[in-house]
Amino acid sequence: MAIKGVLVDITKCVGCGSCTVACKMWNNQNYVNPETKETENAHGFEAELDSNTWTTVQYVKAQKDGKEVLRYVKRQCMHCQDPSCSSVCFAHAFHQTEEGAVQYDPELCVGCRYCMIACPFDIPKYEWEKAFPSVMKCQFCSSKLAQGEAPACASVCPTNALVFGDRDALLAKAHEIIAAEPDKYVQHVYGENEVGGTNWLYISDVPFGDLGFPTNLPQTSVPSNVHKFTRFTPAIFIGGAALWSGVYLYSSRRHKVAEHEGKHEEEKHEE
Ligand code: SF4
Ligand code: SF4
Ligand code: SF4
Repeated sequence: MAIKGVLVDITKCVGCGSCTVACKMWNNQNYVNPETKETENAHGFEAELDSNTWTTVQYVKAQKDGKEVLRYVKRQCMHCQDPSCSSVCFAHAFHQTEEGAVQYDPELCVGCRYCMIACPFDIPKYEWEKAFPSVMKCQFCSSKLAQGEAPACASVCPTNALVFGDRDALLAKAHEIIAAEPDKYVQHVYGENEVGGTNWLYISDVPFGDLGFPTNLPQTSVPSNVHKFTRFTPAIFIGGAALWSGVYLYSSRRHKVAEHEGKHEEEKHEE
């Protein structure tokens, strides 16, 4: 099975937001969500990813040929080829499907949130508002991919800004597009090598750093470097759990002793 990907051509996106609606419909999420934040930043006005918003199209003001231009940038999980979120998760709540989708399983998650710290793209979000929260992120519509179908967002894009296919073919296509119009495009396919490669790839006519993409990422897999630190994670987590259990048992015992002493004093008073 070939690894799948999506090629995002930022020059073709018109900011219609159809992809964000399709994502919410396919994943049964609220379209109007009081938790969703919209922030105005130096670049423009943008909706943020949250536990109920797995993709967003950000409006970014940038400079091109001395003029201010507006670009629309779709964000979601990049589906890294060697994902950091998965490598730090000692509960094995993440796994990669045959098609390359990085999947999260809430049944296995213990809520440590190391994945949120480890992700170089700040993607996983936590359901802070829920009593029993899970981590949330784009799942690359993995059930659709398994059937050979395009993800919901890519299948509705009216301008072909999102093209779904085999990652290798998309990468070759991205280089062809750039080579055909070298004066238009930045000479870089974002995701080709970032953190060892991602299955979502981007091409653009504006430098990626000006669009808010992290540009100082290692060009090799991160997990191979972090394993030496994270091998202690289960011990630290279990140690922490044991410590808090101890504190809880000690407090409960103190509480029971205090109750007992209170009752004893009352009985003495009655006599
Ligand atoms: S972008 Fe972040 S959440 Fe998505 S696969 Fe990569 S490390 Fe995991
Ligand atoms: S791949 Fe699926 S889950 Fe991910 S942003 Fe697109 S529609 Fe949403
Ligand atoms: S559907 Fe396509 S054109 Fe519309 S906002 Fe999404 S990526 Fe851009």
